[in-house]
Amino acid sequence: MTPGPLRPEDLPAQVTRLYFGAVVPLIAAILVWGAVVPPDDLSVPTLVFAGLLLLTAAAYLLLPRRWEWPLRLIAAGTQVLFVTALTLFGLGVRGDEQALHTLLLVVPFTQLVWSLLFFDRPRVGRVLGLALAVTATLLVMRWDRTSPQPEPGTAPLLLVVCLMAQVFGWAFVNLHRRVIAGERSARRDPLTGLLNRRAFEEASATPGPPGVLAVLDIDHFKAVNDRHGHETGDDVLRVVAEVLATVVGRYGEVYRWGGEEFVVCLPGSYAFSAHLLMERVRREVAGRTLVEGPAITLSIGLGAYAPGQSPRQAFASADAALLAAKNAGRNRIVTAPAT
Ligand code: GH3
Ligand code: MG
Ligand code: MG
Repeated sequence: MTPGPLRPEDLPAQVTRLYFGAVVPLIAAILVWGAVVPPDDLSVPTLVFAGLLLLTAAAYLLLPRRWEWPLRLIAAGTQVLFVTALTLFGLGVRGDEQALHTLLLVVPFTQLVWSLLFFDRPRVGRVLGLALAVTATLLVMRWDRTSPQPEPGTAPLLLVVCLMAQVFGWAFVNLHRRVIAGERSARRDPLTGLLNRRAFEEASATPGPPGVLAVLDIDHFKAVNDRHGHETGDDVLRVVAEVLATVVGRYGEVYRWGGEEFVVCLPGSYAFSAHLLMERVRREVAGRTLVEGPAITLSIGLGAYAPGQSPRQAFASADAALLAAKNAGRNRIVTAPAT
């Protein structure tokens, strides 16, 4: 099966996968290298810390999805604690040139990555990022005090670079949020609040479990507009949408296809149960007094899709069944014959 297109809302999950799959192992590898080279300089706490990081990456691969958030927190929190411990206790790590370079490279990079990693909890990401920047700056200051050739400009420079990385990360996350908000509204119908045709086309193209597709059309809707005006027509559309959303609930997804036509996707449903559900919708709408005069009614066509087929593939048969329902006198449900 070919993967679907990457949607902006998938980005945080992708970043988390990349973080535990590539960034954490990379940081661990850099630390192990720094801890054992040169060999006489072996730093056990650094090796333990690198091991802990690798454990979080392995846990991410092995544990169920609900562990993803605590693991993100543990991985980032451990890094802040390690740098704090280095600052306070030294842990036998000398502030030589190699250690300094590692810190100058890894810390701003980590901060940038954390802005994306904590996309859904930006405050946590910000606090952890700033804590890392401050402790790393203090660590460089400590090393500078004990260095035979102190470079007092390095610590403030690190802080400035870290803050810039943080600001860049925030800006990117804000931009991403706005893109997602725009994408969401592009998939919604402003009149009824239902998902729209574009959302249907996106969601129904991929094959999945078998189910039933229902295509619904309000009967003689043009006459409603002509007799009562378009605003009343709009109110009718809103009520029908609300009935649909309430009755269908978690059994499926409701879309406004366009005009006075709706589509309901019922994955995992059989023709029989889909018929019962749509009959409830039909009765509920027909039973309401929405306008003076004849009741508002719906004609409904049902089409089943087989395992491995996409809901979209059932559209033509459901639409043909809808036409049959119209021709048979409207206000009824017709199920397309199984193919
Ligand atoms: P049938 O029973 O055969 O479906 O007849 P109908 O009158 O419902 O069908 P027709 O396709 O002739 O008319 C659909 C009407 O729906 C025409 C159009 O003005 C109206 N319509 C489409 N979108 C909207 C909308 O957003 N608001 C309102 N008020 N009317 C709409
Ligand atoms: Mg129509
Ligand atoms: Mg109609």
